[in-house]
Amino acid sequence: MTTVEDYDAVIIGASFGGLAAAAQLQGTGRVLLADRQAPGDGETSACGTLLAVLERLDALDALEQVHPTIAINAGKRRIGFQPAYPFATFDYRTLCKILASRLPDVEIAVAPFGGRDDDGALRVGDRRVKAPVLIDASGWRAVLARTYGAPPSDSTHRSVGMELRHGHGGCNLEFWARPDDCPDGVFWAFPAGGEVREGVATYTGKGKRLRSSLAEFVHEHELAPRAVHGGVFPSRLRDQVAGPVFVVGDAAGQCLPLTGEGIRPALVWGQEAGRQAARVIRGETDLDTALDTYQAQVLAHRWQYRLLERLQSGLLRAPRPLLPMAVRAFASGPIARAAQRSYWELADPDRLQVAPGVWSEARATAEQCAVGPAANTNATGGACAPLRARSATS
Ligand SMILES: Cc1cc2nc3c(=O)[nH]c(=O)nc-3n(C[C@H](O)[C@H](O)[C@H](O)COP(=O)(O)OP(=O)(O)OC[C@H]3O[C@@H](n4cnc5c(N)ncnc54)[C@H](O)[C@@H]3O)c2cc1C
Repeated sequence: MTTVEDYDAVIIGASFGGLAAAAQLQGTGRVLLADRQAPGDGETSACGTLLAVLERLDALDALEQVHPTIAINAGKRRIGFQPAYPFATFDYRTLCKILASRLPDVEIAVAPFGGRDDDGALRVGDRRVKAPVLIDASGWRAVLARTYGAPPSDSTHRSVGMELRHGHGGCNLEFWARPDDCPDGVFWAFPAGGEVREGVATYTGKGKRLRSSLAEFVHEHELAPRAVHGGVFPSRLRDQVAGPVFVVGDAAGQCLPLTGEGIRPALVWGQEAGRQAARVIRGETDLDTALDTYQAQVLAHRWQYRLLERLQSGLLRAPRPLLPMAVRAFASGPIARAAQRSYWELADPDRLQVAPGVWSEARATAEQCAVGPAANTNATGGACAPLRARSATS
């Protein structure tokens, strides 16, 4: 049997959750961050998040476009609103490279996690490794937590999304409810500098028709599809801790129900898990206390997750004409500000640090915020405007 290599911490998964956790463990000891792909190679996401996330991470080099307006299209109605906290799109590879470049002391291995042996050693590629501190950031399959008894992802609480990129322009983050094409989900278009990421997701996890729905959508709007990618994202919190393992991001079901926003929670809770893990390695606390603290921090937001979950199932059941009313309530009016603040606090970007104890002062400049409109000329050279085909429903 291969000899076992000892580490202080092992993280499986080097996407948002894993890179965030590793940032907090940098410089604490011998840390291994393993992923079956090199950081930045395995994008599944539309890469839309709060602008504040990129600012707090001091990662504005990854910024592609700021979106002051979100538009929701339901039937013939189009409701545009300016959220209190603007969203932005970013380049996945660039963000991962920035975050990975800040980990000189962390060993990054491109190797799949292959299970746990009887003696507790983890199989990572053709190596066997052990560590007192373990972090599962492997996405919805939670491959490490499963070996410690975490239940598999429940198919009734996961969404399936598929997306493609094309070269048209646009300004806003746009969403469409099109029950005829996708009765249990939504379509979206996220402009990102010179391209748009257009996708469809079903909340019920039944993804079989997605590809044809997307193809129809693309054909209807005369788009030239490039790469199509997709994947699963959870819509219910799962175990935050499994045995000695901190579970973060999609592996812990931290992706927000209804909106499918999973990047911000993975980064925020990835960092929190990393902070607690670092305290264990430094001898400031014991592992059980650290795991309990981490779990309690996430579960303090359980009521907000449940609320979003109810809204998601309500969206599927409620008569479609009610949708514009619900969007308006979130967009403006007496509860809008509080609702948006609560949504922000669910995975508070203000918790994010650039490195342990280092807070970013970076703020996007007006010039950076204008990246989208300036770069966003559509095929006919027009200035930033809603996609041609979409404007029919405006
Ligand atoms: C089509 C689509 C669009 C989306 N758009 C958005 C969006 O615009 N904004 C947003 O906030 N969220 C979006 N999401 C959700 C978001 O992508 C996820 O919530 C987020 O990526 C979760 O991050 P994570 O680090 O937990 O997991 P992941 O990003 O899934 O990363 C898991 C990592 O683990 C690695 N891994 C898995 N198994 C193994 C193994 N056996 N061995 C080694 N490594 C392994 C993978 O290679 C991967 O790098 C979207 C999801 C989909 C499917």
